[in-house]
Amino acid sequence: MSFASLGLSEEILRAVIERGYSQPTPIQAQAIPVVLSGGDLLAGAQTGTGKTAGFTLPILQLLSSSAPPAASKAPIRALVLIPTRELAAQVEESVRDYGKYLKLNSMTMIGGVNINPQIRQLQGRVDILVATPGRLLDHVQQKTVDLSHIEILVLDEADRMLDMGFIRDIKKILALLPKQRQNLLFSATFSDEIKALADGLLTRPALIEVARRNATAELIEQKIYPVDREKKRALLTHLIKEHNWFQVLVFTRTKHGANNLAEYLNKAGISAMAIHGNKSQAARTRALAEFKSGKLQVLCATDIAARGIDISELPHVVNFELPNVAEDYVHRIGRTGRAGSEGEASSLVCIDEHKLLRDIERLIKREIPVVQVPGFEPDPSIKAEPILNGQNRGQGGRGRSQSTARAGQGRAGGQPRSSGAGKPAGGHGASRGAAPVMHRSGGRGR
Ligand code: AMP
Repeated sequence: MSFASLGLSEEILRAVIERGYSQPTPIQAQAIPVVLSGGDLLAGAQTGTGKTAGFTLPILQLLSSSAPPAASKAPIRALVLIPTRELAAQVEESVRDYGKYLKLNSMTMIGGVNINPQIRQLQGRVDILVATPGRLLDHVQQKTVDLSHIEILVLDEADRMLDMGFIRDIKKILALLPKQRQNLLFSATFSDEIKALADGLLTRPALIEVARRNATAELIEQKIYPVDREKKRALLTHLIKEHNWFQVLVFTRTKHGANNLAEYLNKAGISAMAIHGNKSQAARTRALAEFKSGKLQVLCATDIAARGIDISELPHVVNFELPNVAEDYVHRIGRTGRAGSEGEASSLVCIDEHKLLRDIERLIKREIPVVQVPGFEPDPSIKAEPILNGQNRGQGGRGRSQSTARAGQGRAGGQPRSSGAGKPAGGHGASRGAAPVMHRSGGRGR
């Protein structure tokens, strides 16, 4: 299967080739013909599958090959709704890149930045609008955007949008669109809520589901590093320095934890920044740009903040703490080894997290190899503590974590997670994948 056989114009093919893609990914091969035929689409695809080009390329094709409706001002013809600001900016960048040989204009409309430049941009020609729901509604309220000529609507990461509480905003926006239009809905998961949304939105949609990365992520090398919660930061520093890891995306459970960890790593001589919802848009954009360019060695992020990050060939993802929801582990490690490149996902697991680890292994249907770093062996006398408010003591930050630890000690006996005390993480055999893995070359030597 080649891009040329999908019916895309010369101009679009040229941009795709320049981007370095040799053949369409499965979601692209299936979605592009459906969208070109004008039908509605319900697609099950995660970030990392190439879904963005899956809807962007055919939309560019459709809009460039048909005349806009007669109107006094060229109207907005396609609306792409995206849950997070980073992702919106990245999708619009892709639209611009794939459409660089076409005469179509696109625009990013996100919150957290001054609205006035957006108002000015809307006064000019915008064919494709990529927006987060909140800011779009701000414009609707100020009557600075006209959605009455939308021909194609995309809801990207619809499950995330619902998770983030955007359902009412989406419904308000849908009510402003023309009844006659093409609808494309992308979602990584299909809850009842998503099904209900799809039922109300889509007309006889084509259904496409590409393999979830959790089932097929063979290219991601996953490892568990057992360690006591208090030694996690030292172990992470050791691993990064020992293996000379660059472009490391580290997940923490909380914003506070991300900040503390970034601060600790900087003191240890590793350049790191935290990226999360409390940071200004400008700070987030700067951190991401420096990380992408390789200037910044480590980015510490919470799940929400990381959702929109699209960095191809990200070599290292580290779970400084395991997520509370096993599905999030899959989303996190999906950040590495994407679109055919290898990646490494390392999890630092303390005794408090054994149950979370078991949930993850049950979900991905495999045991993750355990690597014990000498000098960081868990102390068998340390008992499990409950994880309160997303924090445990391994997080750093003295003030809050001390009190959390006290609260935890009080309840530890009542909630025994300590059945595996003294054993390596996950309660699996101590020998599982131990030293040999550890002494292999660090990462990819980057
Ligand atoms: P997405 O799932 O849209 O976020 O895309 C994930 C990554 O795959 C992005 O970094 C894209 O640049 C890359 N990608 C998309 N399509 C292809 C393709 N056909 N071949 C290789 N890489 C691709």
